[in-house]
Amino acid sequence: MNTTPFSSLPLPPALLSNLDNLGYREMTDIQAQSLPLILEQRDLIAQAKTGSGKTAAFGIGILHKLNPAYFAIQALVLCPTRELADQVSNELRRLARFAENIKVLTLCGGAAMRPQISSLEHGAHIVVGTPGRIRDHLGRGTIDLSKLQTLVLDEADRMVDMGFYEEISGIVSACPARRQTLLFSATYPDDIRKASASFLREPYEVKVEAQH
Ligand code: ADP
Ligand code: MG
Repeated sequence: MNTTPFSSLPLPPALLSNLDNLGYREMTDIQAQSLPLILEQRDLIAQAKTGSGKTAAFGIGILHKLNPAYFAIQALVLCPTRELADQVSNELRRLARFAENIKVLTLCGGAAMRPQISSLEHGAHIVVGTPGRIRDHLGRGTIDLSKLQTLVLDEADRMVDMGFYEEISGIVSACPARRQTLLFSATYPDDIRKASASFLREPYEVKVEAQH
């Protein structure tokens, strides 16, 4: 199998050395295919099976352009479940260790509203959450997505299967038109085609076939 080191990417040394500390030296296939495009600010549809390293692919893309000195929500990652949102938040926090003060906030349904509102008042650089709860915050005016640069739809096929299409659509409407949108999915059914046509702009498509 061909491998490409992360150090071949135009990433700041601090980010690269943190990847090295995490034991991430060679890119996985989906990372090698998607990261050059992600770093060029392209919209992207990436199809790859579970466990292929999709979180670091979009995580590095988010962190590469994030400005830690600017305390506004610059990236939003939508996930189908609380468990997946927690996993993504943990991975983003590990990837963000190269900087001192990047705040990642997780907002999922089933948790009390008030502490989430208070966390939002304190601010965050990156929000990870489930579509229903993010939509709810938008309706209440408790989340401001006007400074968003990157929108990630993680496990998009599962979110659509779970009936989140309308919520996602509402959230996309609240994001700036000028943004990068990355859609990750294990499968690529018609609903995802429809979602990508309405939410993404001239997206590149990358696909990694199962290797075994
Ligand atoms: P996916 O979202 O595609 O299911 P994950 O992002 O959860 O996959 O990654 C699966 C595992 O691979 C995680 O434990 C992560 O820490 C690890 N991983 C990701 N990228 C690399 C890499 N380049 N080198 C080594 N391990 C990696
Ligand atoms: Mg994943």
